[in-house]
Amino acid sequence: MKLKHLEMTLQRVRGFSRPQAALEQYRTPAPLAARLLYHALMKGDIEGKRVCDLGCGTGVLAIGAALLGADTIVGIDIDDRALAVARENADLLDTDITFLAADLREGGCRERITPCDTVVMNPPFGAQKVHADRPFIDCALAVADITYSIFNAGSIPFVESYTAQRAEITEKIGGAFPIKHTFAFHMRDVQEIEVEILRLKRIA
Ligand code: SAH
Repeated sequence: MKLKHLEMTLQRVRGFSRPQAALEQYRTPAPLAARLLYHALMKGDIEGKRVCDLGCGTGVLAIGAALLGADTIVGIDIDDRALAVARENADLLDTDITFLAADLREGGCRERITPCDTVVMNPPFGAQKVHADRPFIDCALAVADITYSIFNAGSIPFVESYTAQRAEITEKIGGAFPIKHTFAFHMRDVQEIEVEILRLKRIA
């Protein structure tokens, strides 16, 4: 599947019906999701691989991984309502994904989640709760050798120090995250946030 086709297909994935600010529920826009996934595909991290989507929300990254030929895909989120939409989205696009409810703050990922090859994720950036992204990083490094994650631009120093001795950043891909007016505290109709997609490789 070509990048443009993937992007167009992912436009059909429905977002959150009633997004919760406390959980930082922002659906990844299709162009950014497609960019992350296509990059991972080109690096050999998707096709035939076991892929986990942590904080999968309504499933856009998990579904994209399935469309690009991942072998098994698991999506995990704390929010049952989001998971219900994710299941509908997966059916709509004829993909086979296992969706599970779990709170990543509780830890224990190594015991609770079957190991996978590649994690894809768009975790909370910590705008509502500082350090909300940390359990996601910990969980990703517990279950997979390779992680693709979206962060605020300028996060590399934090990610480097937080994952020191555990992982190295092997790639950085720039991108933009247009956020539509979703919550009362949003001042503009659309605000564009600079983001970066980082590829982390676990240090054995
Ligand atoms: N990956 C989706 C959603 C991103 S928004 C997409 O790309 O569109 C962040 C997601 O993290 C939300 O779905 C939210 O419900 C989930 N989340 C937030 N805190 C969580 C936690 N502690 N455990 C599991 N999921 C969590």
